[in-house]
Amino acid sequence: MPNDLNAPLESAADVLRAASDVTLLAHVNPDADALGSALALGLVLHRLGKSVRVSFGEPETVPETLLGLDVAGLLVPASAVPAAPEVLVALDTGSVARLGPLADRVSTAGAVVVLDHHVSNPGYGTVNVIDPTAEATALVVLRLLDVLGVELDEPVARCVYAGLVTDTRSFRHASAATHEVAARLLAAGVDAEAVARPLMDSHPFGYLGMLAKVLGRAELIADAAGGRGFVHAVVTLDDAAGLRPEEVESVVDLVRTTAEAEVAAVLKELRPSSWSVSLRAVSAVDVREVAQLLGGGGHRLAAGYTAEGDAADVLARLRVALETVAG
Ligand code: AMP
Ligand code: MN
Ligand code: MN
Repeated sequence: MPNDLNAPLESAADVLRAASDVTLLAHVNPDADALGSALALGLVLHRLGKSVRVSFGEPETVPETLLGLDVAGLLVPASAVPAAPEVLVALDTGSVARLGPLADRVSTAGAVVVLDHHVSNPGYGTVNVIDPTAEATALVVLRLLDVLGVELDEPVARCVYAGLVTDTRSFRHASAATHEVAARLLAAGVDAEAVARPLMDSHPFGYLGMLAKVLGRAELIADAAGGRGFVHAVVTLDDAAGLRPEEVESVVDLVRTTAEAEVAAVLKELRPSSWSVSLRAVSAVDVREVAQLLGGGGHRLAAGYTAEGDAADVLARLRVALETVAG
């Protein structure tokens, strides 16, 4: 991690040491990096005697696979977040808008600490610790825990590991130094398989039927993405009925395995005519640029945005943005 983060890390630690009440927020539809990061830091601050809550703007329910990380019962619904938090910490949240219905707290909070790894993060906090070279926000949090001088025990290490194993796609996108961090987390007692399996490899039987429908309708457009190939699939509310968000979110990991396509997209229906779109690239196309053209963001090889309209319209607009970036 770059040394120029030492000063903001010290400032963040000072703000947190002085605080008596801390609200930690993940981005909407939180993943393991966002909630794992928030719960790791939240647990440490809770033990330091502070009043701590962890939340996110939407949806109303916590992803089932992440509930087990909350060993101290720090998660509260968005409605329980104070109107003017004493100290707000935003984690893995590349823009204020990604806080969703809680975005207004950035202007009402007494201090805002931003801990993130999105290159596009404008630094909307009073203290900003943003490391675009970090493979996960959880690594930024671990660095902050070290500055705070707290012990890394299993429950905290487990939260960090959850963010790290998911954002690195099981350590495929992880530097040598990050593998050393993983070794440190295992030494703290983390059971890698027990953490990773529910997050990445376990779904109810109904998942198979959903995949059969959704993948059966997937389309490959070999000459799209500047001739590198584009594959897409659509998950409607009907396809996803009775399944968790975890099943829907994992579809892109299968679609992206299409060898003939550099870029993969999955349209996930949130409400009728309202979509969350996941974009993935193998290596050559910067899908963050594509997502940004459409109002979203993310990382070079994994990005996303939301869109309104019917699926065909959303796809048509995506094709235009894709050719603008990759054509
Ligand atoms: P997802 O496909 O939902 O797993 O998202 C992949 C990455 O894209 C996330 O880590 C975020 O950085 C980013 N992302 C997803 N949706 C949005 C959005 N609506 N706005 C901005 N960034 C997004
Ligand atoms: Mn995230
Ligand atoms: Mn992340």
